[in-house]
Amino acid sequence: MTDLGKRILIALGGNAIKQAHEKGTYEEQLRNVEKTAAQLAKLVQRGYHLAITHGNGPQVGALLIQQEEGQRLGIPPQPMDVCGAMTQGQIGYMLQQALMNEFRKIGLDKLAATVVTRVLVRKDDPDFQDPSKPVGPFYDEETAKKLAEERGWVIKKVKPNADKPYRRVVPSPDPIRPLEADAIKKLYDSGIIVIASGGGGIPVIEEDGKIKGVEAVIDKDLAGERMAEVLGVDIFMILTDVEKVKLNYGKPDEREIDRMTVSEAKKYYEEGHFLPGSMGPKVKACIRFVEEAGGKAAIITHLEKALDALEGKTGTWIVPD
Ligand code: ADP
Ligand code: MG
Repeated sequence: MTDLGKRILIALGGNAIKQAHEKGTYEEQLRNVEKTAAQLAKLVQRGYHLAITHGNGPQVGALLIQQEEGQRLGIPPQPMDVCGAMTQGQIGYMLQQALMNEFRKIGLDKLAATVVTRVLVRKDDPDFQDPSKPVGPFYDEETAKKLAEERGWVIKKVKPNADKPYRRVVPSPDPIRPLEADAIKKLYDSGIIVIASGGGGIPVIEEDGKIKGVEAVIDKDLAGERMAEVLGVDIFMILTDVEKVKLNYGKPDEREIDRMTVSEAKKYYEEGHFLPGSMGPKVKACIRFVEEAGGKAAIITHLEKALDALEGKTGTWIVPD
């Protein structure tokens, strides 16, 4: 295989921090983050220079519930953008700690640091008209109506026939670029492993000459791709809970994809092989990276297969035509 270069942006999925069946205790999350750090350290040991982004779905979900419940004790709830910032700090801290301990263990002199990242979105992004992303607790009809009225939330029925079928939905606008781009790049170029744009970044808009946070959620893979563009990395790597992307996903004739060109990826995307909200945005982000950002390759694979995939042994590769 030709040498693709050693600069990599890694987008960590939910399983890097919390397994689906877990509650999300500190001990559980620490254990997962330590395992993740051991995988990442192997790449660093092989000479790859990493930048890292990560999801925050379960963590921000829990924090939003804490905001709601805390009101009974007289503690004012913080808005979503602030909760996004809090989870960037939370997860960034845990990754820094686990990475440093792993580096010490294997005798590597490396530093990881987190940048609280805002990501600019368009004020007129179509998703603001038709919010699509469910967040926070589930509600019964009465509570849902009350919250919609009091707070102006958009609430939708997301689980028909359940006791609490309603949930708040927020917009999921397309990321334009991280506003901390220069800081992230300076850290990265100086050899520091930079953790940024966590949870897709804190969505902000520009209005009347001012930047302000909005109640929305940005997809972490699409935001990660923007960070990869800013850093000019060689490879964009999405680490999730499947080893390869599949065609005819979930159907009897399902099959794994080893490699697809951008044109093939676009064709499969349009044919609907990649589900929205999960594999869809991942493949879209990879297409963007290779086609628009001039990236050499994008890889989607399982967290534990990162090194094997970089060595060309597995994963789904998205490459230029
Ligand atoms: P992450 O937390 O890593 O972002 P997601 O759950 O969002 O993980 O995305 C990974 C999931 O995407 C897989 O576990 C699988 O259920 C789903 N998925 C949807 N379409 C496909 C596909 N075509 N091939 C493989 N997985 C798919
Ligand atoms: Mg996801």
